[in-house]
Amino acid sequence: MTQITLVQGDITKQRVDAVVNAANSSLQGGGGVDGAIHRAGGPEILAECRRLRASHYGKGLGVGQAVVTTAGTLPARYVVHTVGPVYGAEEYERGAELLASCYRESLRLAVESGARTVAVPAVSTGVYRWPMEDAARIALSTVAAVAAEAGGAELDEVRFVLFGAEAYETFAQVADALGLGPAGPREG
Ligand code: ADP
Repeated sequence: MTQITLVQGDITKQRVDAVVNAANSSLQGGGGVDGAIHRAGGPEILAECRRLRASHYGKGLGVGQAVVTTAGTLPARYVVHTVGPVYGAEEYERGAELLASCYRESLRLAVESGARTVAVPAVSTGVYRWPMEDAARIALSTVAAVAAEAGGAELDEVRFVLFGAEAYETFAQVADALGLGPAGPREG
């Protein structure tokens, strides 16, 4: 059975098989989670992103899609880079579908790589301005659906890593409202 857990912390510190990055289409690094992952993981990650960009993603990685690289010196094996939608850039329903797709695709690729534990950030809630509560509802319900579909056999843990108390509280409340059980350890 897949455990869905919430921790307040820094995603670059998580000892998991795969870490999801809230990247941008360019795959060239950026701020927020992206900047933190490249800083902590070292230049190998960016080098692989550049190779992917040059070989398969000439126009950049599409919104809602994901791609896997090494995790460099992070305490993880893989980074799954996904591109969240910018809030308000398209019709709401379309954006929400793209945000759900980020989680589905990221987990699909993580499982394909052999990962059993995955740390995920609150994609699109930083620079891309998606309201936290709505993003939490989309993120948690999508991950719960993925876990249920696979019967929980492929993934042991999907850990949401929330930056700051407010984000953690919001995710915990939404998880509770969705009936996903206790939020799990707060510190991470
Ligand atoms: P996006 O461009 O998809 O909005 P950001 O990286 O700007 O992505 O922000 C996504 C969320 O991740 C925000 O809620 C932000 O506060 C949070 N965040 C920023 N740095 C980290 C980190 N090191 N670990 C976990 N979450 C982080």
